[in-house]
Amino acid sequence: MEAHRLRNLRSPGELRARLEREGTPRTTLSFYRYVRLNTVEELRHALYQAWEALGVLGRIYIAPEGINAQVSVPTANLGAFRQDLDGRDAFRAVPWKIAVEDDGKSFLKLMIKARKKIVADGLDDDAFDVTNVGQHLDAATFNRKLEEGALVIDMRNNYECAIGHFEGAYLPKADTFRGAIEEVVEMLGKVNGEDVDTNPQPETGQPATDSTLHHPEILLYCTGGIRCEKASAYLKHHGYNKVNQLHGGIIDYARQLKAMGLKSKYLGQNFVFDERLSERITDDVVGTCMQCGAPCDRIGNCHEATCNMLLVQCEACAAKYADCCSPSCREIHLLPMEVQRVWRKGRSTRSTKTKAINDPEGLRKRIREEEELLALRGTLHPELTSINQKEEASA
Ligand SMILES: [Zn+2]
Ligand SMILES: [Zn+2]
Repeated sequence: MEAHRLRNLRSPGELRARLEREGTPRTTLSFYRYVRLNTVEELRHALYQAWEALGVLGRIYIAPEGINAQVSVPTANLGAFRQDLDGRDAFRAVPWKIAVEDDGKSFLKLMIKARKKIVADGLDDDAFDVTNVGQHLDAATFNRKLEEGALVIDMRNNYECAIGHFEGAYLPKADTFRGAIEEVVEMLGKVNGEDVDTNPQPETGQPATDSTLHHPEILLYCTGGIRCEKASAYLKHHGYNKVNQLHGGIIDYARQLKAMGLKSKYLGQNFVFDERLSERITDDVVGTCMQCGAPCDRIGNCHEATCNMLLVQCEACAAKYADCCSPSCREIHLLPMEVQRVWRKGRSTRSTKTKAINDPEGLRKRIREEEELLALRGTLHPELTSINQKEEASA
């Protein structure tokens, strides 16, 4: 079959109608694996052909480093889909996670994309063995090792840690995965009192030094487990051998807690990537309001559309700043829609403001300065005067 026919050509409306008509029960599941894949393009076409025939819908990324898939499979074809995966060396026995809340309509079409990476992580994969990962631990074992004093490290983005994390976890401050993992290597080096070498030379075959013998037991975790695959391989490449990772991430940890009646060592909320933004694991409040510093784990985005900055914001501050990050955003957000539209023209919707997550004090300082200016001038956006005049003239 020619490559260009191996893709969906129908409109979203048609696709939705087809899914409604179909009426077959579907199961949503996800899986990933870091594994060396050759001839990614050819594999992509072969998978498309095989999985389309099974009625699989979803979003799949494949790359020379592996596969990352979220799919919806007709429940009757789950066995055949498992067989297809197991029939391919690279994907044999790949563990999958079945979504708990599932209306079977999570995907409208099958999309398989060949990419450079399955997760954009900024690391040079050729420099280390991405398949040499840490040991996967279930919730009970993870808890036990934590109690025994293992070093627990959060591999998520800094803003995800702001509303929940494991007890005593090291929370990297960096804004990127690469920055975070390098920060972790540096921190571990300090724990060991070593000179840090972020670019280790190839194995020299020398026996382990005293310091490597004293490497701490490491526990890594992230939302769904995928980021720990790369992180654990990276740490092992740097000579750390006692590297463990939470199997299935916080999402599966929460499921195991319920199923087995375990006590959560994860405190607060788990940041999730859908419209909810977070799900509560325990009632602990680990965060603080970025605007007033009160204990708080209420997370949202600045409602001013061109700002959209991620905020941990208490109810009182949300009321005071009209769900915005600052007086200047509030001023825009409270204008009539048509004036906002004129003001927005030509402005980027991507926030150029410094992220407040690592510098809430900076945000508070900016708020104080803006309040002073506002009291003095009555506006933080003098350009609004001309916009308002034009709007009034045309009205
Ligand atoms: Zn507040
Ligand atoms: Zn804002």
